[in-house]
Amino acid sequence: MPKTIIISNRLPIKVQRTEEGLAYESSEGGLATGLGSIYKQGDNVWIGWPGTYFEEDSEKKQVRQDLHQQSMHPVYLTEGEIRDFYEGFSNETLWPTFHYFSQYAVYEDTYWEAYQRVNQKFCEAVMELASAGDTIWVHDYQLLLLPAMLREQMPESTIGFFQHIPFPSFEVFRLLPWREQLLQGMLGADLIGFHTYDDARHFLSSVSRIVGLNTSQGLIDNGFRNIMVDAFPMGIDYDKYASLATSEETHAKIAEYREALQEQRIILSIDRLDYSKGIPQRLQAFELFLKENPDFHGKVTLSMLVVPSRDQVEMYKQLKETIDELVGRINSSYRTITWTPIQYFYRSFPIEELSALYSVADIALVTPMRDGMNLVCKEYIASKVDRKGVLILSEMAGASRELADALLINPNDLGQMVRTIREALLMPEEEQITRMEHMQEIVQRYNIHHWVSIFMNRLEYIKEKQKAMA
Ligand code: UDP
Repeated sequence: MPKTIIISNRLPIKVQRTEEGLAYESSEGGLATGLGSIYKQGDNVWIGWPGTYFEEDSEKKQVRQDLHQQSMHPVYLTEGEIRDFYEGFSNETLWPTFHYFSQYAVYEDTYWEAYQRVNQKFCEAVMELASAGDTIWVHDYQLLLLPAMLREQMPESTIGFFQHIPFPSFEVFRLLPWREQLLQGMLGADLIGFHTYDDARHFLSSVSRIVGLNTSQGLIDNGFRNIMVDAFPMGIDYDKYASLATSEETHAKIAEYREALQEQRIILSIDRLDYSKGIPQRLQAFELFLKENPDFHGKVTLSMLVVPSRDQVEMYKQLKETIDELVGRINSSYRTITWTPIQYFYRSFPIEELSALYSVADIALVTPMRDGMNLVCKEYIASKVDRKGVLILSEMAGASRELADALLINPNDLGQMVRTIREALLMPEEEQITRMEHMQEIVQRYNIHHWVSIFMNRLEYIKEKQKAMA
């Protein structure tokens, strides 16, 4: 019986050592939920790093056994591999380049060597479990070389690849010293998916200009088979957010927040700490808004959640300092005894609290400089059971392609952001409801389960098409 193998850098579970022994904490992320319908069935399996270093063979064996019970298989990475492959090549070379921050990219041969070695390690882990006829779905930018490595071992297999971050224009991608090897790695797949058509178009143009292959109508002919490239905008677990918003816990939290905030209008911003998220620019826009709109002093609060991320990396430490300074400056200039303009949190929140924040927020201010998709804005929409609330969304987020009823802004245009915040605060309720209903329809229909099923169907389709053409 052919099976399906999912591969991503991280498993949807975190293994930790506790005094009572090994503890397993499942991820509640959207991807884990969406792929849950696949990897938990039959002999299917999800392969990835379990998030902790293990050295003892006995411990590795134990973790492997425990994970197998849950349809998962671990790839053990060392501290050196995490440093050079993950923090290094993935997050200091590919991440900035793919998000159009090439000036931050580090070109380091030791990182590249580790990236190749770790992709090979993943390939060996897959080969331990794979048989001819299996369907393999590789996820994201940490594993760009894996599709071709697998193809070499199993020329007939069905391989899908999905990239969760943007694919930059050729002029930016070409800056990478290892550009051709990276593309060749991806071209091992039969289906290559991105969040948006622009990402897919950029990838096709890099393939034709760097590798010299013919590309037409989303198909690449490599002389052996046709490779399909397409856009699959990822969705969220809509029902989970919609029902959380009406749960007792969320209602209790909402009542608590309302009591504390009284009549304040709430602007909500939620991001991981990352330079791609445009957090300093957003703070500057809010400062300018306060300067130009004294009528809103004392009436509006920016609730800003920043989730700690990659804070060992120098660039991220500096960003954190910039944000701390800006928040301090704005609050000290404008606060009164009874009003703090920015409520700033640097930590992560449990999902019930996120749900309550989404519910009470009059505006979600989502203004990344660049974002593959952005799920926060979709979670906000799904949480708005009373359909009131306004989404201000950056054109540079993949989600903006689907959400035409958001107020779309360019995050470099501070003046436009300021005017849009005012427009959102003054938007009549009927207009809020009309826009929200349109967006809810889209986010509900194109949810995470839909995303998984159309990707898998398309993978099956291209494989059949290849056979028919052979
Ligand atoms: N999130 C979280 N804990 C928090 C705040 C946010 O787990 O305290 C989640 C949020 O619900 C969303 C994800 O983090 O699902 C962020 O995804 P997004 O696509 O917006 O950005 P990414 O961090 O993947 O770049």
